[in-house]
Amino acid sequence: MTENDTLFGKIIRREIPATIVYEDEHVLGFKDIAPQAPVHILFIPKQVLIPTLDDLQPEHAELVGRLVLAAAHYAREQGFAEDGYRVVMNCREHAGQTVFHIHLHLLAGTQLGRFGA
Ligand code: C5P
Repeated sequence: MTENDTLFGKIIRREIPATIVYEDEHVLGFKDIAPQAPVHILFIPKQVLIPTLDDLQPEHAELVGRLVLAAAHYAREQGFAEDGYRVVMNCREHAGQTVFHIHLHLLAGTQLGRFGA
């Protein structure tokens, strides 16, 4: 495993608590501590630390796909896929990124507002 020296690395290593709702070999999903919707899950890579979307390389394509597939799987499994949901990844300051270990937000459970500035 490469370095995971962020808050999310500590969650992966179970050094700080999180409500984990999804896990496979590559991806961990847990409830956001400050939910912005009735369902707000973060999906993160477990074995690779990629700080921002801007650090993605072609070899990460499969891993990014795994994050999206994990979110879609969770939505189907939890029964809100038909009503719909949103996935978001924030990159750096203007998007409000606060944890520099890439993560996919899954938001659901209500009618979401339009996004923008
Ligand atoms: O995209 P951004 O970097 O802002 O997202 C980080 C997310 O991590 C926030 O939504 C924040 O609430 C969440 N978080 C968490 N558990 C922590 C620290 C932050 O769920 N211990």
